[in-house]
Amino acid sequence: MGIVAVLAFAGTAAPSRADGPAGGVSLTGVRSWASPTGTRVVFDFSTEIHPVAPDSGTTRQLVVTVPGAPMSLAAGVPTLLVVRDTVVDSVMVSASEIGGRFRVTFAQSSRFRVFTLRPEADKPFRLVVDVARPGAPALEAERLGGIASTKRRDRIRIVAIDAGHGGEDFGAHRRKGPPEKTITLTIAHTLTEELKKIPGIKAMLVQNGDYFVPLRDRYHAAEKMKADLFVSIHANSSPQRVGRARGTQVWFLSLHGASDQESRDFADMENAADMVGGVPPQSDNDLVGILYDVKRSSVLQQSQLLAESLLDNLSEDRRVETRAVKQAGFAVLKSVEFPSVLVETGFINNPTELKLLGNPDFQRRMAKELAGGVKAFFQKAGYSLADPAASGIAVPQRQ
Ligand SMILES: [Zn+2]
Repeated sequence: MGIVAVLAFAGTAAPSRADGPAGGVSLTGVRSWASPTGTRVVFDFSTEIHPVAPDSGTTRQLVVTVPGAPMSLAAGVPTLLVVRDTVVDSVMVSASEIGGRFRVTFAQSSRFRVFTLRPEADKPFRLVVDVARPGAPALEAERLGGIASTKRRDRIRIVAIDAGHGGEDFGAHRRKGPPEKTITLTIAHTLTEELKKIPGIKAMLVQNGDYFVPLRDRYHAAEKMKADLFVSIHANSSPQRVGRARGTQVWFLSLHGASDQESRDFADMENAADMVGGVPPQSDNDLVGILYDVKRSSVLQQSQLLAESLLDNLSEDRRVETRAVKQAGFAVLKSVEFPSVLVETGFINNPTELKLLGNPDFQRRMAKELAGGVKAFFQKAGYSLADPAASGIAVPQRQ
């Protein structure tokens, strides 16, 4: 899985901002993204629209209308988008003086959700149609459960590696060069390869492709695979210090605000991923309670130790200013099941750093250093590695 169908017009992902007809609206882009759980179809508009469609349901063919105002298609926007990714078959677009009409044909009868997203970062007003891959939740539960069983059977440690962004969510902005999501996916891959070389460790990518995963689903997936720890890989951008900011930073969760303004800004930027990527409206189910708080504080101590181990293992020239780890309210670090950290590998708005981040030798070196930091953490925290006899985990004897 993880194949992305980007069918934006004219080979560009950046929609034009053409205004619609007088008093009307312009459809400026339409594209689809495939992921293991389903396919997302995204429509970009020049202004806010009020679609008429069911919020959710199960069907073979969905029609969304946007009545009330003239609609036009910006240059290059197709009237037929052929998707054929085994979930969505095609998208038919028609626009006229009386409005717009979009017909999404699924490969088979499937569950869907329809919602809109307000403009965010470089994204315009969007209409999103999410179509679930039939059977995907059961398959995903089986996959994650399989990883958890391997852990019990082979007495190994599971390290979940999260490649920061994907799909609609490109991550940090840049003038030119690859977006953050491309860099972080590559580094995350390299890090899993390096971790796999360490006996007793199994490294798993939370997401193996360029598609959007909501922040909460990232650590929930790691929880289901019974991960021992969670490392979220990112590349930073500093609006305050364009071209000057450099080095690698390691963060863990703060429940009481960030250690400084810049940290708060970074956390806000990363937490915006859900808005940019597009999370459908849902209720907040985070648990609260005293037991939860006790668990949280012990996990936070471990997270700090993990962050320090990673930072200590970075070569001198990668460490930023002070060697202290930092804290901020990153939403992706909120699990209480395992220590988790967020690594800002470098600054993509610094040309020298951007070049380094795209360089395979540098990626390999950084991955080696981070893998060494993970190993050091396991040793310092008293976890056994490839030594089942000394392990504190209750596991059945191998037959
Ligand atoms: Zn990021």
